[in-house]
Amino acid sequence: MDKYQQFKQKIGELRVFENEDLSKHTYFKIGGPAKLFFEAKNIEDLKSALEAANELKIPTVVIGAGANMLVSDAGFSGLVIKNKASEIKLAGFKGSIDKTGRSIKSAFISATSGTLMNQLARFSIDQGFEGLEFLLSVPGTVGGGLKINAHYQVEQNQFIGNQLVSAILFDLKTGELKNIEASYFEFSYDHSKIQETGEIVVEAIFKVQTTKSKEELWQKAMEGVRLRNEEQPVGIACSGCIFRNINHEDALRLATPNLTTSTGYIIDKLGLKGTKIGDAQVSEKHANYILNNGKATASEVLELINFIKEKAKSTYDLELKEEIFYIGDFK
Ligand SMILES: Cc1cc2nc3c(=O)[nH]c(=O)nc-3n(C[C@H](O)[C@H](O)[C@H](O)COP(=O)(O)OP(=O)(O)OC[C@H]3O[C@@H](n4cnc5c(N)ncnc54)[C@H](O)[C@@H]3O)c2cc1C
Repeated sequence: MDKYQQFKQKIGELRVFENEDLSKHTYFKIGGPAKLFFEAKNIEDLKSALEAANELKIPTVVIGAGANMLVSDAGFSGLVIKNKASEIKLAGFKGSIDKTGRSIKSAFISATSGTLMNQLARFSIDQGFEGLEFLLSVPGTVGGGLKINAHYQVEQNQFIGNQLVSAILFDLKTGELKNIEASYFEFSYDHSKIQETGEIVVEAIFKVQTTKSKEELWQKAMEGVRLRNEEQPVGIACSGCIFRNINHEDALRLATPNLTTSTGYIIDKLGLKGTKIGDAQVSEKHANYILNNGKATASEVLELINFIKEKAKSTYDLELKEEIFYIGDFK
């Protein structure tokens, strides 16, 4: 019996699928089949699948909502674990007891890594806690969010990593679980250390602060949603921003207006809005988005990405770097 059959036997024949079409599991609606596919419905599922994959040495990738990836047309010739382990709870408070009762200043929220960031934001706002509301309507899970350090208004320092206290990670190479502090991630713009180590986020604890008015918090969060809907394409298959923003030194060198580091601005200046390769197209609304107009393939998206990179290099001497992650074989 090969290792894939052994995995099925360990985890449950009826819960592990062969040749699952990954386009059904990505926001881009693009991607070939996974050799094996397993949906982790809770934390126990996630841990058992990771442990079994490690033991059997099966190449494994964990996906969240598939909102930040391009899966190759050939798919992935290993195990894909779709992480739907979604559980949020209040894990503790910080504050003092006075005559009026408990005066809570801050709280800790624990979330399993398949929790949607949108759910995390709602939970936190509903409890009257501030700090995670900018994640309202940001697609994706806590695990995917920590890998890229999900953010909204960067100039206002709105990064998921800023609110993280600690996490539990699984190391696919050693099969070990470890408890780590937030500093382990070495968060910066679009970066966390797990991009290099490949460790899997299992659970995370966030710190949030009490706020005077829950209503004001909802208003602030909804204003973010309104702005996002104004700026970004809505209701069409895409994977969010394709490229990371440029760095401050390049913005200075190119004297961008107000020293913007927006890669969307650069692609717009290159005159590439609306450019098409097959069914893949640079959005007319936000140039850092590539849209799947219906039947786009990963090869077409990749060709368009490379075309944009070449233009940025030859025109502005810029090395654009992808924000999305590539899954599978792109040779
Ligand atoms: C319409 C649209 C708007 C967007 N707007 C924003 C925005 O405002 N701000 C922003 O920051 N992003 C935005 N994004 C991008 C996306 O929301 C984030 O990158 C998000 O963090 C992706 O999470 P995910 O669970 O979907 O990750 P996936 O796409 O599933 O995975 C991305 C990477 O993370 C890895 N991964 C997934 N789960 C785990 C885990 N548990 N442990 C370790 N690695 C894991 C995957 O293997 C892959 O390498 C947008 C995307 C879309 C489609």
